[in-house]
Amino acid sequence: MSPGRVNREKVRIVLHRPRFPENIGAAARAMRNMGLRRLAVVAPENFIEARVRMMATHVAGDVVDAIARFDSLAEAVADCGYVVGTTARLGGERQAVVSPPVMAQRLIAISRENEVALVFGPEDRGLTNQEIRLCHALVNIPTDAFSSLNLAQAVMVMCYEVFTARTTKEGGSSPRLATRHELDGMYATLRDILVRISYINPENPDYWMNRLRRFFTRMQLRAREVSIIRGIIRQVEWYARKNFEDGLKEGRRQAAGEE
Ligand code: SAH
Repeated sequence: MSPGRVNREKVRIVLHRPRFPENIGAAARAMRNMGLRRLAVVAPENFIEARVRMMATHVAGDVVDAIARFDSLAEAVADCGYVVGTTARLGGERQAVVSPPVMAQRLIAISRENEVALVFGPEDRGLTNQEIRLCHALVNIPTDAFSSLNLAQAVMVMCYEVFTARTTKEGGSSPRLATRHELDGMYATLRDILVRISYINPENPDYWMNRLRRFFTRMQLRAREVSIIRGIIRQVEWYARKNFEDGLKEGRRQAAGEE
């Protein structure tokens, strides 16, 4: 690993629900050209190995051999401290979008200590809003009026930027960020306690949780900070339970005194 470049060993390409095996193969080849080797495929519509290998050619046979298969996107990125979604479409929840070279620069520091995923959506509809909520940041490849690139070509653009990004800055290493798994555990306990203390509406907890997710995502929480937040939630739970039990005891004592 050279300090002024992206640490490619920590970067994986994730193809979410790809429909065409040829695109998986062509993505593997693009990765191999740019020195990336870790390819994860989530719930492919068709994984026909001969068609994957035909496009990967002998060049990327090893990338195909090592493909990691997952049933869900959450599992494919669970150990990642930084998840980058790619999108052809903008607007709505897709607000804070950066260009590929800007993202690649950012990854130089992040990839020193953290597992990074670059996530690509299915050919027909791209990533859903739900899937985008798993991402810390979004990248859009600028295009002319027609914005949707072929999946494997979009992979190539990102791999090229990751390969060529350079910095002369010293020491720009970022701390270990909380993994997706740690963050999701925190969100689950946070949601539970916020419903119980009636801060959020149990009928529609996702509305508020999505806002909180966006807020925490902007802060790029470190692993240690997630432990602090989880510790606070546990303490609030303990305090609420204790007060409740003390109240019951007090009630019983008063009732006994009155007899
Ligand atoms: N019709 C879909 C495009 C899917 S293309 C849509 O409108 O979103 C398949 C995938 O290739 C996308 O999910 C994204 O991961 C990637 N991709 C295609 N064009 C892109 C672009 N201009 N910028 C970033 N990613 C792009």
